[in-house]
Amino acid sequence: MTEDRSPSTIGVDPAVYKTLLESTRAIPWKIDWNTMKFAYIGPQIEGLLGWTPDSWVTVQDWAERIHPEDRERVVQFCVAQSQAGVDHEADYRALTPGGDYVWIRDVVHVVRDGQGSVEALVGFMFDISERKRTEEQLLGLQAELQDLSFKDALTGLANRRRFDQVVEREWAEAKAHVQSLSLVMVDIDYFKQYNDHYGHLRGDACLKQVADLLFGAAQGGRNFLARFGGEEFALVLPETKAEAARKIATRCRDAITRARIAHAASAIGDCLTISLGVGTAVPRDEHGLMPFIEAVDRRLYLAKQQGRDRIVAEG
Ligand code: GH3
Ligand code: MG
Ligand code: MG
Repeated sequence: MTEDRSPSTIGVDPAVYKTLLESTRAIPWKIDWNTMKFAYIGPQIEGLLGWTPDSWVTVQDWAERIHPEDRERVVQFCVAQSQAGVDHEADYRALTPGGDYVWIRDVVHVVRDGQGSVEALVGFMFDISERKRTEEQLLGLQAELQDLSFKDALTGLANRRRFDQVVEREWAEAKAHVQSLSLVMVDIDYFKQYNDHYGHLRGDACLKQVADLLFGAAQGGRNFLARFGGEEFALVLPETKAEAARKIATRCRDAITRARIAHAASAIGDCLTISLGVGTAVPRDEHGLMPFIEAVDRRLYLAKQQGRDRIVAEG
């Protein structure tokens, strides 16, 4: 016969255990496996969730006090683990009488009788709402950081890093669906002179204004505008053929012309102008993305060579 080492025989009054259990922040409970009823739940439960201890009668009461979005997952998991006789834990939102929810971690131990059959479940409920709040804040900050890392701080447009991702994704999409992908590269004319004449701060404001105008002119579908670098912008136009791309490029140039942004130091007029290169590809295996971007960039260079304030497209 095994030695009996229950509290009474080793000299600790069970009442001491009860007092200890009921003075911790963890809430103890016990469910009888045969009846599926609560044999016990610590009085602290009322302070945490607001339900009195004697309102916890059956496992049904427990299940009904789980957030509907968590219920099926938690109940199925706990029942399966208990039937298999495996200790487990589950996080879920528990309902309060006022209709609010508190994040709980339930840690469950399966108690077996001498023959190894499940006899009861005992466990502790922990209030993890503080931890969940911190977790959610962290997730929020992470999303914000992610957002910032893809955004150009001055113009609010997508940055070069984002452009690289998007253009690669759209290139693959276009290849998979055998569709046209167009790209427009935009560069402000004589912007060094603009800075020299008006100062760097006005230069910044001008860049922001150009970004806004281009953004407005480039709207539509999955069109995507990024600040490619310094005073250069790149516009990715998925599912767009050469003619449509040329039209959008024209809209961009017209938007800048109509805004009549004074540029007293420009060599070709009184107002700020832009040069644009436009290209279209239906990507195939033998075509690479890099040569495509370079070809569009060469057209932008041609636009500069041919006198600026113009669009160079293929054909
Ligand atoms: P081009 O007509 O041939 O394009 O001449 P450009 O003067 O526009 O070209 P260049 O590449 O020589 O000069 C670009 C200028 O853009 C130089 C740089 O100081 C300015 N620039 C780049 N980024 C910023 C920025 O964030 N703010 C301001 N204010 N200026 C910038
Ligand atoms: Mg430039
Ligand atoms: Mg320039």
